[in-house]
Amino acid sequence: MKVELHNIVAECPSCHGTDFEPHGVGRELIASQTPMACTRCGAHTSYIALLIQIGDQAIARSLETLDRIKAQRAKLKKPAPQGK
Ligand SMILES: [Zn+2]
Repeated sequence: MKVELHNIVAECPSCHGTDFEPHGVGRELIASQTPMACTRCGAHTSYIALLIQIGDQAIARSLETLDRIKAQRAKLKKPAPQGK
């Protein structure tokens, strides 16, 4: 299963795979501390670690967006070349 939030998909820290299976519980019982295993390489992480990773991604993306907006605004503010 993909661990996804706001269109951001958590990646396995080892192989960058995006498919995880909860370890020891059913999908419907996933809690923050539920261990998750990468289905590609078998690396273990936890559900909360994947959510935190998504949070970090979301922050990085919003900072990028902010930079883009700032750059655009700077461009708009630039005085137009004065022609005679
Ligand atoms: Zn992996």
